[in-house]
Amino acid sequence: MYDIVIIGAGIVGTMLARDLSGYRLRLALVDRENDIANGATMANSAIIHTGYDPEDGTMKARMNVRGARMYEKIYQDLGCLRKVVGAYVAACGDDEEKTLAVLKQRADERGIENVYLSGDEARCQEPNLGDDVTKVLSFPTTAVVYPWEIAIACAETAVNNGADLMLNTEVRDITRTENSYILHTDHGDIETRYVIDAAGTGAGKIARMVCEDPGFTIQPRKGEYFVLDHQVEYVKHIVFPVPGVKGKGVLAVPTVYGNTLLGPTSDPVQALDDTSTTFKGLDSVRADLNKTMKNVPYRYVIRNFAGLRPSGSTHDFVIRECEDAPGFIFAACVESPGLASAPAISEYIINEILSKSLTLEKDPDAVMTRKRPLVMAELTDEERAEVIRENPAYGRIICRCEQISEGEIIDAIHRTCGAHTVKGVKKRVRPGMGRCQGGFCEPRVLDILARELGISPLDIVLDSKASRILESENR
Ligand SMILES: Cc1cc2nc3c(=O)[nH]c(=O)nc-3n(C[C@H](O)[C@H](O)[C@H](O)COP(=O)(O)OP(=O)(O)OC[C@H]3O[C@@H](n4cnc5c(N)ncnc54)[C@H](O)[C@@H]3O)c2cc1C
Repeated sequence: MYDIVIIGAGIVGTMLARDLSGYRLRLALVDRENDIANGATMANSAIIHTGYDPEDGTMKARMNVRGARMYEKIYQDLGCLRKVVGAYVAACGDDEEKTLAVLKQRADERGIENVYLSGDEARCQEPNLGDDVTKVLSFPTTAVVYPWEIAIACAETAVNNGADLMLNTEVRDITRTENSYILHTDHGDIETRYVIDAAGTGAGKIARMVCEDPGFTIQPRKGEYFVLDHQVEYVKHIVFPVPGVKGKGVLAVPTVYGNTLLGPTSDPVQALDDTSTTFKGLDSVRADLNKTMKNVPYRYVIRNFAGLRPSGSTHDFVIRECEDAPGFIFAACVESPGLASAPAISEYIINEILSKSLTLEKDPDAVMTRKRPLVMAELTDEERAEVIRENPAYGRIICRCEQISEGEIIDAIHRTCGAHTVKGVKKRVRPGMGRCQGGFCEPRVLDILARELGISPLDIVLDSKASRILESENR
């Protein structure tokens, strides 16, 4: 019997798992996917929004402002990267400037640093800003991160503190007993006193397993992107249009590793797992971007991708205990700014919900920090030479575009919550993120995975369970 089972190993579930692993609790984190952060946490704009955008009185506003401030300590504790690039919200003409004034007032009231720039002042900093931009509201403290790096680091910390991580485990139904919940999964039953539903686009389905009317439905909204190679530095700041009916609009975002994201769209889809990219979606990214940006170097596009927002009928996060099922807690409808809000959502669930009915005793042995894995690119030449002398695998370059060594890949496979898929290795140490997109290194990563895991190369998958890479006539 667990005290708490968290369904969903995205940024919300893993953040909760890490925080709860600091208490004396029997804890499990369950996900239907074969890796951590394969849902919305995998494919988004990666921005830690400062919190000027959500409307007053919403959970989104409260969680975003608090969450963004909590992240500074989290990066340090978990050894995760973040880059403070700053954000420009770009207005074209009088009407849009009125919206900027609303955002400025919100930001001032929430204590978020901001400053107005004229269109020309902003273009001095961002030469590719469109000529129609008349005024910019600048948020200098906005940062970008690697969202799945944070989620994986949180899960690693939780597991090191004794939490159970159950991947490939889909919750298919839930039975309520007098004092517990029994989760029926494709790998057997799991009994627990408390359940936290952090299942992203699947959160509505999970909620209806225990509750006839949870008060929300989820309609996923797809966001499609282009990715530019880091050979070109197209923008230094994140450039937003003024927000509209479709949310924050189409952006240009510099990433932690110097690529540029262009997108996302925001279109409702029916399937809970439709992350396909489309001509229509990508064409609308181009069209919308033309309003705020110019000289977009599409010849440097190395990839496109799409993510699904778990958007709710409430238009706000649903973070509360289910009224007719005590001990069943929703962390649902966590669309943007869910990444920025995750630390505050976790804090709120622990302090404002769980602590009301559960005795939470700190575990003095819990370690809430994590050492950053060795990244050869972050070392000096002398330090690299020393590492290679001790272990020559760190001198064998597997990914030429991003200069990733075999030693880093082996470490990513064997550390806690390690990789066992090609995409899992890519998420952790980045082979395949460069301009050849894995054309050269992917077969070598596959071989290393098979060797290190002691399984046949035929059993190595790209990402999802069904995505086998090699076929054999003998099977
Ligand atoms: C296009 C796009 C852009 C965005 N940009 C930003 C941004 O810049 N900044 C920001 O703050 N936020 C952004 N967001 C929002 C942010 O990505 C999400 O709010 C956040 O990732 C949600 O995390 P989560 O843990 O709730 O959900 P997820 O990451 O989706 O995790 C849910 C998990 O639940 C699992 N699951 C589902 N059903 C079951 C089941 N039955 N059994 C077991 N497991 C199950 C899934 O496999 C999944 O791993 C963006 C989102 C999108 C899609």
